[in-house]
Amino acid sequence: MKPFGYVTAPDPATAVAIVAGRPGAAFLGGGTNLVDLMKLGVMAPDLLVDVTGLLSDRIERTAVKGDGEVGGLRIGAGVRNSDLAADPRVRAEFPVLAQAVLAGASGQLRNMATVGGNLLQRTRCLYFQDVTKPCNKRVPGSGCPARVGEHRNLAILGGSPHCVATHPSDMAVALAALDAVVHVEGAAGARALPLSDLYRLPGDAPDRETTLERGDLITAVEIPALGYGQNSAYRKVRDRASYAFGVVSVAAALDVADGVVRQARLALGAVAPVPWRARLAEEVLTGRPATAEWFGRAADAELAAAAPLPDNAFKTTLVRNIVIRELSVLAGVAS
Ligand SMILES: Cc1cc2nc3c(=O)[nH]c(=O)nc-3n(C[C@H](O)[C@H](O)[C@H](O)COP(=O)(O)OP(=O)(O)OC[C@H]3O[C@@H](n4cnc5c(N)ncnc54)[C@H](O)[C@@H]3O)c2cc1C
Ligand code: SF4
Repeated sequence: MKPFGYVTAPDPATAVAIVAGRPGAAFLGGGTNLVDLMKLGVMAPDLLVDVTGLLSDRIERTAVKGDGEVGGLRIGAGVRNSDLAADPRVRAEFPVLAQAVLAGASGQLRNMATVGGNLLQRTRCLYFQDVTKPCNKRVPGSGCPARVGEHRNLAILGGSPHCVATHPSDMAVALAALDAVVHVEGAAGARALPLSDLYRLPGDAPDRETTLERGDLITAVEIPALGYGQNSAYRKVRDRASYAFGVVSVAAALDVADGVVRQARLALGAVAPVPWRARLAEEVLTGRPATAEWFGRAADAELAAAAPLPDNAFKTTLVRNIVIRELSVLAGVAS
């Protein structure tokens, strides 16, 4: 491993200034992804700026409204994944988020991993992690061997000829469904952006995965109140029952009255380079009967754009089935 320095900073602004001003510097959260990639030689920062002591590790209620309504939640970027999944408000009001976090990694990893680091973890594409192989994401312009090689776990939606990697985070899929807002502190000050604007599709520049600038520090994630958030769930299909990344996953929340879908939230994981918000499916669902037939039609609308490769074509059927199953459970109907 390349030698590197390690520093802590007295406050977020100083941490931002260090990383913004030094191309070889990187923020260090729990280190569960970054340090692994440094050992593999995939990432080689010369200075790690530890932000775990700087960032809020609290989950706070936002804007409580009148008449029994409750606000959303603001989650500090330093909150450990285990603490997020264990929070009673998250479990009761947004079970999809608690379930997604618990579906990822292992207990020990979740104890270390932070919310900020989870959102910015890198793809698990085998070629990205192997420095002896070409990879457009790691070395722009070097090629994408995955298209003709190992791509069983890679994208069916949103990929490009230059990259078909999937985003690995389970938490981000739930946060996409919940319309989360990401708070960032950067060299030009603080700003907030929808999670859907955080990630970039690969296009012809797969090395640029987010819209963040050098030195941008994620400080918090905010989940707006969602009246039907308690009727939400996360289902992940993986090759073994625990300690494995997803093959496909579905985050869903459903508001049903008198057998009709009033509102729906749907996001898909492990099928695209970004956590995939299924807005076309949501449009189909709104105002329709809460039946397996309509859940299938919604999935079909979203998956019409799927462009699978030979070894991951099965994902299209699998994700359709999981969408129907998950929505049927939330609607209390047979699938
Ligand atoms: C064996 C194994 C299995 C796993 N299985 C799963 C799984 O099934 N599902 C899943 O979702 N995840 C899984 N993970 C990944 C795990 O969730 C991530 O490694 C973890 O969430 C990363 O968080 P961290 O705080 O350790 O990030 P770090 O490794 O510290 O950082 C990751 C990246 O984010 C940057 N960064 C960190 N914090 C900030 C911040 N506040 N602002 C800006 N940039 C920041 C770092 O510079 C780095 O580039 C697995 C990991 C391992 C090792
Ligand atoms: S899919 Fe993306 S990450 Fe994987 S080899 Fe191709 S360019 Fe690299």
